[in-house]
Amino acid sequence: MDNPIAVRLNALASLQLLDSKLDEIHRLRGSLPEEVSDLEDDLEGLITRRNRIEDDINKLKDSIKDKKNKIEEFSGQIKKYEEQQMNVKNNREYEALRKEIEYANLEILTSEKKIRQFNDQIEQKEDLLKETEKRVDDKRQELEDKKKELEVIIEDTKTEEKKLQSLIDEAAQSIEDRYLNGYRKIRRNMRNGLAVVATDRNACGGCFSIIPPQIHIELKQRSRLIHCENCGRILVDQSFFDDVMEKNFS
Ligand SMILES: [Zn+2]
Repeated sequence: MDNPIAVRLNALASLQLLDSKLDEIHRLRGSLPEEVSDLEDDLEGLITRRNRIEDDINKLKDSIKDKKNKIEEFSGQIKKYEEQQMNVKNNREYEALRKEIEYANLEILTSEKKIRQFNDQIEQKEDLLKETEKRVDDKRQELEDKKKELEVIIEDTKTEEKKLQSLIDEAAQSIEDRYLNGYRKIRRNMRNGLAVVATDRNACGGCFSIIPPQIHIELKQRSRLIHCENCGRILVDQSFFDDVMEKNFS
């Protein structure tokens, strides 16, 4: 393990092993973080909807108050006109007041009709509000359960994750940027996140295509960085992984 290539391969194998272990933790958490954030969005949407319904109800109540004030105002006017009717000097004046009273009565009727309509609307909105509030409660509960589920998994794996992350940082530091970037690029392109693989019975451990005997000899010699001709992954001898396992996890 003295030649620089072997050292580099060893560092890459270490990094791969550690990254894979961290991937496994993230897989364990699965889609939970995403589900939590979806639920948070849903809840926010429902709360906005509930607030809007509450606003609507308050506006309707204000409108009813306005109409009631109007009715009171017109009732006052009617009373005033009726008193004036007692003291009119002629028929024309009486008739003019009668028309004013008629108009005021009509306004009162219209306002009363409006109030009934607003009350009907309030009743509908209150049903909707109740229904929406229940949905908010249910969603909140669902979110809390999901969060708890995620917290338990995070709690269980936190120490391991932390340890892995610091080992990953350490391993990454010992690799030249050029190789580190190459490794990460391959890793990003692989669904299973494997950029460094061991050979398995003369086949690439990533894509299982056969490795030519000459390459196999070179792998044993550890004389250069070799990529699988088929999938592009970095190939190493299984012994590298065994060494890393022994070093970090025994
Ligand atoms: Zn391959």
